[in-house]
Amino acid sequence: MTPAQTADPTGMHVVNPATGQVMATVPIFDAVQVAAATTHARDVFDSGVWSWRPPRERAAVLLRLAELMERDAELLARLDSEDAGKPITECLVGDVPGAIESTRFFAEATDKLFGRIAPTGPEHLGLVTREPMGVVAAILPWNYPLAMAAWKIGPALAAGNSLLLKPAEATPRSALHLARLATEAGIPDGVLTVLTGPGPVTGTALARDPLVGALSFTGSTATGRRILTEAADTNFKRVSLEMGGKSPQVLMADALDFGDELIENMIEAAFLTMGQNCTAGSRILVHRDIAEEVLARFVTAAGELTIGDPADPTTRIGPLINRAARDRVAAAVDAARSAGADVHAQELPDGLHPHGAYYPPTVLTQVPDGSAVLTDELFGPVVTLQTFNSEAQAIHLANSTAYGLAASVWTRDLDIALRLARSIEAGMVSVNAYSEGDITAPFGGWKQSGFGGVEKSTTAFDQWTREKTVWIRTR
Ligand code: NAD
Repeated sequence: MTPAQTADPTGMHVVNPATGQVMATVPIFDAVQVAAATTHARDVFDSGVWSWRPPRERAAVLLRLAELMERDAELLARLDSEDAGKPITECLVGDVPGAIESTRFFAEATDKLFGRIAPTGPEHLGLVTREPMGVVAAILPWNYPLAMAAWKIGPALAAGNSLLLKPAEATPRSALHLARLATEAGIPDGVLTVLTGPGPVTGTALARDPLVGALSFTGSTATGRRILTEAADTNFKRVSLEMGGKSPQVLMADALDFGDELIENMIEAAFLTMGQNCTAGSRILVHRDIAEEVLARFVTAAGELTIGDPADPTTRIGPLINRAARDRVAAAVDAARSAGADVHAQELPDGLHPHGAYYPPTVLTQVPDGSAVLTDELFGPVVTLQTFNSEAQAIHLANSTAYGLAASVWTRDLDIALRLARSIEAGMVSVNAYSEGDITAPFGGWKQSGFGGVEKSTTAFDQWTREKTVWIRTR
């Protein structure tokens, strides 16, 4: 249960995980209110005020939204930093510019979505048009609140849908501010509606709502499974799931040729957003010949990360999302230690807020085979390190979880890099970098990390549009 859910029944408290301080109280939308919102969204969609508006004009409004996000960039960064405990520099340098770029990308794509013509004989014309889904919904996680909102809002609105957006309990404030900016940009009432509330109440209501034609979910695999079941039990709404991960960082025997660049990328992969990142490189798989040196350099670099107040621009490691998450991570590390693993972690510094949910960057080695920490998503600043002797063994280890979101591969040998990239079962593999690619590159998971569609790139429109064949007899 997140801190927000412990609030009184008329509203949810938004709690700063660095201090335990209540930052705001937001409403809980129950099933009746969600139904009223989807009905209104349907009326607005049917009115054509947005859905039939010429794409060029929709593009102009969405570009205006991107401008307003740029104007309020510092505020948006502060809201995410306070709600999620994310270091402010991460928000200012990564999340907020990324969200603005995404909004611009999809705005610019609005009037570039062509239909197709079927290859018929001369007596027919088969038009294949791409149309909006109607009323659509998005359910968001708390780790990248603004960025995930932008990935959904951009293509959903560009395509002409009316979108209901449910932010995570812990992090609703940047989405609420985005809704204000959307109004200021000229997006009509009922086209973008933010509904706050707990997952089992507001989220379930959206997943079961018969007027919602498509639902895009980003969050844990367990919740994704529940949402898919709700959709199947109701109107078979189209569901896209972006879920958890346990991504490997594969270091071949020559990886140390990349020197400090390798170590810096590994640190970012492991500890960005305190490791609470779906694509976190939480499993280091390293060739036995270089394992000792890699471990020493990685542990040293992890020990140099500044742990502190997320509002301080020099902070690299803030608190976890709440104390329950911190306790869960600590228990998993304790269990691994009891099973025989070696734990490499720096001490938390003095002076941290006593109510902050802090946990230090941690590396686990000598973890016994079969331990849960090697296969389950931990969602904290904890990585495991395993060694291999051969390329085949590296591939086997890389593919040995139920997840398949991302992976990174380090080697100067292009043949090996390509073989690994082709063999690793993941939606995204980066070579000699830790990267998800830019906004032009599709983002999506395989296996239990993802299902039903991808984010980013023009491929994202597949989630938010459907094709129609118009068959015309010409003589
Ligand atoms: P979560 O599944 O607990 O919650 C995600 C959202 O689902 C929240 O808005 C929550 O209120 C809602 N929800 C919870 N129960 C629900 C229900 N029964 N019906 C409908 N909605 C419900 O996930 P989280 O803890 O917020 O986020 C962390 C997870 O998200 C991690 O597993 C992470 O890997 C994943 N994630 C994946 C991606 C990706 O793109 N693949 C990106 C970010 C985060």
